[in-house]
Amino acid sequence: MNIRQVKIFDIPFVSENKETILKLMDDRIKNQEKTYVVTANAEIAMYGKENKNYFDLLRKATYIVPDGIGIVKGAKILKQDIPERVPGIELMTDLLSMANENNQSVYFYGAKKEVIEVMVKNLLIDYPNLNIVGYCDGYNNDEDDSVTNEVIRLNPDYVFVAKGCPLQDEWINQVMAKVDKGLFMGVGGSFDVLGGFEKRAPEIYQKLNLEWLYRIAGNPKRWKRSLALPKFVVEVIKEKYKG
Ligand code: UDP
Repeated sequence: MNIRQVKIFDIPFVSENKETILKLMDDRIKNQEKTYVVTANAEIAMYGKENKNYFDLLRKATYIVPDGIGIVKGAKILKQDIPERVPGIELMTDLLSMANENNQSVYFYGAKKEVIEVMVKNLLIDYPNLNIVGYCDGYNNDEDDSVTNEVIRLNPDYVFVAKGCPLQDEWINQVMAKVDKGLFMGVGGSFDVLGGFEKRAPEIYQKLNLEWLYRIAGNPKRWKRSLALPKFVVEVIKEKYKG
């Protein structure tokens, strides 16, 4: 299938709805094709624009999914169309449902120890057939190499990594060079939500595309990071008139 893409700052975003993206991923997992998924919002796009190393990592992704209304609106400014925003947490839970139905194996890496432990317990209740082959929190010194070796040994179908950007992408890229299958996805703060330590915005905020506002209000430390959004809009407008 020809996958539609929209480029913002030369970063190719998938321009398909969530259902199509899931179908593409399902096919790749069943064919045991290695897959690297990035869910990128305006902050990540800005980081990619300003940081060559991270841009090079992004270019290795199989799919860069538009996780954020900023990306959808940015595409619109460039007169391009992205059908919908695809939140990383939703993509992750939909993939877990697929793994649950198809008896596929899953590995989790990242977040605090208490968070990942509660998350795993919760997931086993919500997805009773989920084959969780292993997990490790993201705060042990030097854990990166031991987790890499464990993932090589266990050879799971899915690896979800919650260490934030760019740590999660750096780790994914080095491990992917050493395995021959698996869908690897960076999921940022999703383990905190699935462990019940952080709340996702109520549905009304999600519907109004104001999830970002809820997140900033709940965590004032995010204010600084949220400045990436207006900066992103300015850069998109510059790109539009670049000619
Ligand atoms: N994290 C980690 N190890 C680290 C730094 C962060 O496991 O050395 C985890 C952190 O506990 C959180 C996740 O990375 O669960 C994502 O953090 P953040 O909210 O910054 O990510 P975002 O969703 O904003 O990309």
